[in-house]
Amino acid sequence: MSNLEQQYQSVVARIRDAEADAGRQAGDVSLLAVSKTKPLCMVEAVYQLGQRDFGENYLQDAMEKISACENTDVRWHFIGQIQSNKTRPIAENFDWVHSVDRAKIARRLAEQRPAERPPLQVCIQINVNDEASKGGVDSVADVLALAAAVAEQPNLNLRGVMAIPESSDDIATQRRNFAAVKTIFDAVKQQFPSCDTLSMGMSGDLEAAVHEGATMVRIGTDIFGARQ
Ligand SMILES: *Cc1c(COP(=O)(O)O)cnc(C)c1O
Repeated sequence: MSNLEQQYQSVVARIRDAEADAGRQAGDVSLLAVSKTKPLCMVEAVYQLGQRDFGENYLQDAMEKISACENTDVRWHFIGQIQSNKTRPIAENFDWVHSVDRAKIARRLAEQRPAERPPLQVCIQINVNDEASKGGVDSVADVLALAAAVAEQPNLNLRGVMAIPESSDDIATQRRNFAAVKTIFDAVKQQFPSCDTLSMGMSGDLEAAVHEGATMVRIGTDIFGARQ
């Protein structure tokens, strides 16, 4: 087994263990492999192991991989901050966007989504710790308003919420932050029952995220190795 394969299988095993520990069903939580900054050959190798969902957050870097994988069934997820002048390549090339944080971005993505493609799958990014450096909406009322703006666009499918809490080695802190995200997710889901995606948990905190109800974890480092 290659290193990459070992690392990938070990992340899959951690997710299955975390599901079992949390009393959840095997397969409840899906894995988004975050391949940002990593070469195409690594995406291909992990694809060969059965992985289909890949996350990117630098457009330039993503576009090369996306065009190389054109005739495959990879699902590309955009997870980075979105500048409003960069919405078109996202609308044209991605399947999912996890980082929608304002109505203007939602409207532009909807307008620019090609008619022949299925709707773009959208999560709203929540700012949990009020960190100015990170994008995201920080009040429940604002999240619900943005959810309504996304839901009314025919070319967008509102799927749920995404968050990147402050990184912490303390499990209690991790859980508290993820629980706060889950509370907001539940409020959104109550008004928009089509929502099924709670995107939270990264290499350092996936167990806490699964414990608090994540349905999708986004893992880069522990699959592909450290980034420069
Ligand atoms: C880079 C990134 C990840 C992956 O983080 P790791 O700690 O490398 O697993 C997940 N989510 C987002 C939004 C990212 O930018």
